[in-house]
Amino acid sequence: MKKLILLMAAMTAPFSTPAAAQTAPHEAKAREIYARVISFRTAAGHKQTPAMVAYLIETLKAGGVPEADIATLDEEGERALIVRIPGRKPGRPILFSAHMDIVDARPEEWERDPFKLIEENGNFYGRGTSDNKAGVVALVSTILRIEAAQLKPARELVFAFVGDEETNMNTTRLIAAHPWVKNAEFAINTDAGGGILDETSGKPLIYLVQGAEKTYATFDVVVTNPGGHSSRPRADNAIYQLAHALERVEAYRFAVMANDLTRAYLGAVGKAQSGPVGEALRKFSADPTDAGAADELAKSPEFVGTTRTTCVATMLDAGHAENALPQTAKAAVNCRIFPGVAVDSVRDALVAAIADPGVKVTVRGKPDASPVSEMRPDVMAAITRAVHAHYPGVMVVPYLESGGTDGKVYRIAGIPTFATSGLFGKPSEMFAHGLNERIEVAAFYRGLDHIYRLAVDLGGARPGS
Ligand SMILES: [Zn+2]
Repeated sequence: MKKLILLMAAMTAPFSTPAAAQTAPHEAKAREIYARVISFRTAAGHKQTPAMVAYLIETLKAGGVPEADIATLDEEGERALIVRIPGRKPGRPILFSAHMDIVDARPEEWERDPFKLIEENGNFYGRGTSDNKAGVVALVSTILRIEAAQLKPARELVFAFVGDEETNMNTTRLIAAHPWVKNAEFAINTDAGGGILDETSGKPLIYLVQGAEKTYATFDVVVTNPGGHSSRPRADNAIYQLAHALERVEAYRFAVMANDLTRAYLGAVGKAQSGPVGEALRKFSADPTDAGAADELAKSPEFVGTTRTTCVATMLDAGHAENALPQTAKAAVNCRIFPGVAVDSVRDALVAAIADPGVKVTVRGKPDASPVSEMRPDVMAAITRAVHAHYPGVMVVPYLESGGTDGKVYRIAGIPTFATSGLFGKPSEMFAHGLNERIEVAAFYRGLDHIYRLAVDLGGARPGS
């Protein structure tokens, strides 16, 4: 995952009561599972997801999950796991998802062993502590608690453990097509969404539920030229030609866009902000055709991405010798495309803006464009109840993510997906994918509780058969 930049990862929860929070038996069990799953180096190439799945299956069976309700899926040496809890009533299942794989960590660069769970100064340290093994443990813990309490959900609950979210998302595609999952009414993704704490006071400001992701696409912008000796400059030059093209990309503005989700998000953030940005947020939310408000938001790196497609030059590569005219000049232009906008139309817009047939623009790979998951009142209400259990009164709103999780795979497969980790953090504390990844101890336990509450609430779980 590459979460919303504001969010996640090192979760500080100043209002927590960790001493009390860690005494429950299910929390001790969750901590034990957490330590084991952190010990698996589930980075691409290490092929450790089969071993981690074997451990999870052993744990789940010991907790009472029948073999018939466990399935595994394999893709290129990585393994995914699916577990179901049958419902009392017929109906479409509800999916919960987390990913087991990690971005690799090199032990020699870390201050502590990244593959050992270390509790220190109120934090849990280790690779995957936040992204996304806390989510993995929250799902396992939820299943074990439901089994131990002999709760029976009205709706079938399906729990998915993805094996390659950080790379190919191939196991996510297999999960989405699996008979237990493909008919799911919606999905809860633990890998994004969360609360923002005020940087100085630590006060909870807002809780964000990820309901859509922008499409990530990179375009190669390339100029070629016969070149020659640098003592004999030609009228045309690949580097100058590319530079002119990039100036036009820089100046180009994609059309302002809005949908219900972004209007709700910007309006809610605007209520909490003062000054010209706050005013622009409120105006834009009320009327997305307000050009002045859109222009004001375009100046803000924090909000520009929520109002339009953005493209920016990120890499340059040109020439082959200091005394030769360049034969090739190329740039990478990375775009975050608004939901509903086709990748080809962005390429066409760049070509039109550059307006030079000598400049070639091609897309890298095959970007996935995913639809917006319209916010469901029942799901938002359940998430709000779970958030308010620990953070009373905090505003809960949907947001559009500029990064990317495998929620887009579920959305493309027709399963509306809402990412909600239950974790709160300060914008400055973002350790996912980086060195010395950590999560606040109390935040971890609250994250477990968040997912358990959602499963019980949304699934209609109650004692009995
Ligand atoms: Zn992730």
